[in-house]
Amino acid sequence: MHTAPRDLARPPAAPRQGLRITPLGGIGEIGRNMTVFEHEGKLLVVDCGVLFPEDTQPGIDVILPDFTSIEGRLDDIEAIVLTHGHEDHIGGVPYLLKQRPDIPVVGSELTLAFLSAKLVEHGIKPVLARVEAGDRHTTGPFSLEFIAVNHSIPDGLAVAIRTAAGLVLHTGDFRMDQFPLDGRLTDLRAFGRLGEEGLDLLLVDSTNAEIPGFNISETELTSAIDQVFATTPGRVIVSSFASHVHRIQQTLDASHAHGRKVAFVGRSMVRNMRIARELGYLTVPRGLVIDYAKTRNLAPNKVTLICTGSQGEPMAALARMANETHEVRVSDGDTVLLASSLIPGNESAIYGIINKLTDLGANVVHKGNARVHVSGHASAGELVYCYNILRPRNVMPVHGEPKHLRANGALAERTGVPADNVLITRDGVVVDLVDGVARIVGQVEHDLVFVDGQTVGHVTENTLADRRQLSAAGVLTVLAFLKSGTAELAEPLEYLHRGSVHGQDSLDNASRAVEKALADATRNKTTSGEQLEEIIAKAVARSLARSSRREPMVIAVVLDA
Ligand SMILES: [Zn+2]
Ligand SMILES: [Zn+2]
Repeated sequence: MHTAPRDLARPPAAPRQGLRITPLGGIGEIGRNMTVFEHEGKLLVVDCGVLFPEDTQPGIDVILPDFTSIEGRLDDIEAIVLTHGHEDHIGGVPYLLKQRPDIPVVGSELTLAFLSAKLVEHGIKPVLARVEAGDRHTTGPFSLEFIAVNHSIPDGLAVAIRTAAGLVLHTGDFRMDQFPLDGRLTDLRAFGRLGEEGLDLLLVDSTNAEIPGFNISETELTSAIDQVFATTPGRVIVSSFASHVHRIQQTLDASHAHGRKVAFVGRSMVRNMRIARELGYLTVPRGLVIDYAKTRNLAPNKVTLICTGSQGEPMAALARMANETHEVRVSDGDTVLLASSLIPGNESAIYGIINKLTDLGANVVHKGNARVHVSGHASAGELVYCYNILRPRNVMPVHGEPKHLRANGALAERTGVPADNVLITRDGVVVDLVDGVARIVGQVEHDLVFVDGQTVGHVTENTLADRRQLSAAGVLTVLAFLKSGTAELAEPLEYLHRGSVHGQDSLDNASRAVEKALADATRNKTTSGEQLEEIIAKAVARSLARSSRREPMVIAVVLDA
């Protein structure tokens, strides 16, 4: 395995005959997937998604890939190709199209439908090119072939990219369910054909590379899901991603079989299920789906609710239900069916939510205690099959945290890919494919770009550090009335607290520290208000850190007495 060194210089000019590959998101994290391919001066973008924030990023809505390195080259972009309609693959598209609205967007029917609904909300009219599995589509110097893949959303596509520099396959997200609900398999025959042709580079989903063996099939979940609907005395509340059409189909079928009416709750769920139904991806028996308001008149055991959070993510709605701030009030006899994977890093938050829901009287059924969910990503066994069928010359694991990428790289090596040709990269690391050899050649800008309300990129790591400090220790404002034009106190300091707590002793110590600092300032003839504010704030912060081991944000305000 060849791991990108920590400090890489900017890359040289792109090779004339080669293909340059620059991931701008999705490598080192699960989310905001985006890869830029460059050939003959033209760019092709594959996916443009968002990453959802963690607890340590308070107030952030979503995180975007860093577009800095392509901002000056927007006119060179031939197309944005979307592998499937998950937020971590399409959520960033509105932000890229805001910079150049006429970039053609290429994708399957359902993917483009989900994207279009999102773009309407942003007021963008996109240029769309619809493709389906088996199609070929040429854009500039890139000749594309689309291949069916099975995933936790219908209509997923892998994309093969042919240029003068060789043949590349980007799998997108995929798994190899052999009995999927819609009968649409990952097209291993096409993979085999690409292997025969000679695959120069494989970019491959790493999410589940650490999990040994094979996923069970979607169809194997049916009996456990049915059991939930048969035995629950109250409502069944299903929490799912708003795009998981197959899981929602299963819960609709089970509801129908057990005489329950179904209401969709949450804007993105209502919207996506309307789209999926109109396009024929979701089959809804007549009269089964009703408005949420009407479920109030029915006996609880005649009701199913299917919900998401505001962004279409399941945990937000559940968290609000657990905290009793959601319109759906969970009560005795209800079953909450958690039809989603536990996203790495969020486990402890999720167990907290499960406990709160249990306290409210719900029976919580999830992946950990029943066969009600299966991941959408290929496990190690499935990946190994792919390597053996595709026989790639070079491999670049994508879509994963560092541990997932390395696990995937190790699988590639075990199947015989030379260690030097397995590249473990990061966001921003630039790879050139020249004469069948892929090499790391440099790196470009690769920051996290935070969306906070209407602002994009204004919130920085420093802002977040402030927010974390505020949430951990609150804020302490110090008012210092000074004799005009001096650094001498006219009155004792005044302290105003918000979310910070200090004993009188600590504050007395802090006041003494300030007096000392001001005496020094007087000696140094410092009289600028701004400088004095900084001196006072520093003295208070240091003193409190020493005396009470608390580090609130300290803001000093100097006033003329
Ligand atoms: Zn996906
Ligand atoms: Zn994904």
